[in-house]
Amino acid sequence: MAPQIKYTKLFIDNEWVDAKSGKTFETRTPHDGSVIAKVAEGDKADIDEAVKAAHRAFHRNSEWRLLDASQRAVLLNKLADLIKRDAVYLAELETYNNGMVIGMSMHFMDAVIANIRYLASLADKIQGDTIPSDGDTFAYTLKQPVGVAGLILPWNGPIFIFASKVATALAAGCTVVVKPAEQTPLTALALAALVAEAGFPRGVVNVVNGYGPTAGAALTHHPQVAKISFTGSVEVGKLIQQAAGVNNLKRVTLELGGKSPLVIMDDADLNVAIPFAANAVFTHQGQVCIAASRLYVQAGIYDKFVAEAVKHAQARKIGNPADATTQHGPQVDEEMMTKVLGYIEKGKKEGAKLLTGGKRVGKMGYYIEPTVFADVKDNMTIAKEEIFGPVQSILKFDTLEEVIDRANDTSYGLAAGIFTTNVNNALQFSKHVEAGVVWVNQYFAMGSQAPFGGFKDSGIGRESGFHCVDAYLEVKTVSISLPKKF
Ligand code: ADP
Repeated sequence: MAPQIKYTKLFIDNEWVDAKSGKTFETRTPHDGSVIAKVAEGDKADIDEAVKAAHRAFHRNSEWRLLDASQRAVLLNKLADLIKRDAVYLAELETYNNGMVIGMSMHFMDAVIANIRYLASLADKIQGDTIPSDGDTFAYTLKQPVGVAGLILPWNGPIFIFASKVATALAAGCTVVVKPAEQTPLTALALAALVAEAGFPRGVVNVVNGYGPTAGAALTHHPQVAKISFTGSVEVGKLIQQAAGVNNLKRVTLELGGKSPLVIMDDADLNVAIPFAANAVFTHQGQVCIAASRLYVQAGIYDKFVAEAVKHAQARKIGNPADATTQHGPQVDEEMMTKVLGYIEKGKKEGAKLLTGGKRVGKMGYYIEPTVFADVKDNMTIAKEEIFGPVQSILKFDTLEEVIDRANDTSYGLAAGIFTTNVNNALQFSKHVEAGVVWVNQYFAMGSQAPFGGFKDSGIGRESGFHCVDAYLEVKTVSISLPKKF
């Protein structure tokens, strides 16, 4: 049974309101492409209302600013409790609107709860330094919230990324305006209802659904927004960085795309490496910024590995993402499905060897078969551009030195992995590969405690980890004159 859709309006100042224009937009389920709700379509005027509410909530005398830091942690933990209470409903709603298989949605709920609790624990550990200044001066630093933060979300992990960005900003003491992705508006609204139930004061969290060039752009241009945190494409990331410098100077955190290399050495334990390599690219139908979309396999094991990779792709169970046994659901929408199928055609045309998959599944919804290309060359489009679909591109290499240079020959730098039983290979690769996250003999391991973000065009700044709140803080130095003699 489809999950009930309870919230479709904008959430501003702890109230549910229609868009000022009265406009709405349709949202669909990728399983069959049917419209499941009409959601209020916010634009510049609604963003302005939401930013004003967030700005009022940030005033030095506001209820939020007067809270002890430890009380911010109490509220965040309350939010985590409510998410735990509603985890099954939220996971089902995520699957319904996004197409994420339910096993993954449920797994994410545990990660979301753990993440909010970790971030809550940081709220009262934000502390400055005492400084050994020269002369008769006593100096110390205060770390203070930067102000209103605009949080712009992608569609591929709506609940997790909402929770991660919002809880980091709130732990720091900021107030926020969230702009969810237009493809997946529903879970952000369900979470907004829990924010209100948890008891966060008015205006601390606001959610305005709408499109990127209207609502998103209004947020990035708003002079009362001090900080933007964005997850999405490199193309839009560049626009956001420009917009953030127009009406004021916003701090910017960008978590963007990737073309992550995964290297399998001749000496790898293939029983481990083969299934990992399949999951590393096919999880969530390849709609993951850290997907291992360039699989480099060393010459000595290449043929064997390729044959096994094909078997793994063919064994993945395709079906309705709401079915607990499904491993492979639909792409998020028709546009993404068409884009991915276009990349597959390019792969074929440019001479990569298509070994399995390559086609749309049926005519309902947006399903694509898990696809494996072998004999891919570095200059082919499928080896260079982010596909964001279930396409494994396998490339052959001879030496570690060679593969490191080939892995780095890209403008991306998000994640990388290596499977090897030789510690020197692992250490050399980890040292020289240009990526913000490196996995050895595993892939996808992530946690609240470890920083996450990209080198090069894959982003600016880090999310998660002990220092993640710094991205929402200003450092203030206070210098006090001391009497010369005492
Ligand atoms: P994808 O290509 O994966 O859909 P995008 O980078 O296009 O990702 O979108 C990610 C988020 O950025 C969405 O919430 C989208 O609405 C928003 N967005 C798109 N264009 C802009 C823009 N010009 N300014 C601000 N936000 C935008």
